Amino acid sequence: MRIVILGPPGAGKGTQAARLAAALDFIHLATGDMLRAEVASGTRLGNLAESYMERGDLVPDGVVIEMIIARMSASDSAAGVILDGFPRTLPQAEALDGALKEVGEPIDRVLSLRVSEDELMRRLAGRFTCSECQKPYHLEFSPPREPGRCDLCGGKLTQRPDDNPESVRRRLTVYREQTAPVVGYYRQAGALAEIDGEGAPDDIHGRLVAAA
Ligand code: AMP
Repeated sequence: MRIVILGPPGAGKGTQAARLAAALDFIHLATGDMLRAEVASGTRLGNLAESYMERGDLVPDGVVIEMIIARMSASDSAAGVILDGFPRTLPQAEALDGALKEVGEPIDRVLSLRVSEDELMRRLAGRFTCSECQKPYHLEFSPPREPGRCDLCGGKLTQRPDDNPESVRRRLTVYREQTAPVVGYYRQAGALAEIDGEGAPDDIHGRLVAAA
């Protein structure tokens, strides 16, 4: 089974996709996480991607398509895969369809998280992650016990380089211009379920499980 989770930056895609994958025992493939790992390791791909990511722009289609298709082929034996953050453009959606048609495993469901722009700005502005164990925090919704330190491992909390106000605005514009058409593409294909992405995380998880 193949599930895609779509949503604007700050919609909670990463957290909810990981929870859904755990609940269904599926593999969770997040292109943003893969690209950040490439940047951290200083690979050729990471060096190419870094400036696009910091600005809040999309990394060129060809590079991302090649990376995710290779990773999906390596996960062929899994019962199911959740794609998080891919596809983000129409060419990516078409390339994914083409690759899946070849192996006879189409996309079963596309879950699109809907969150208002005011709420997205609020969520993104307070977002921090532990630099050691990657536990996520939010200054307003889930603050650490000691400012700047992880409750679990004591690691230093850092903000994503693309969570500054200028890059956040750019990421929201990029979503509207390049990713929103992908929602329409899957609606037309009859695979889309729109999910209310506001409210308590447990409730959002319940809605996603019910729609998956
Ligand atoms: P995310 O963690 O999903 O918010 O992604 C962080 C950044 O990684 C994005 O702002 C893009 O620069 C890049 N990125 C992630 N997924 C894609 C994709 N499917 N296509 C192009 N760029 C991507």
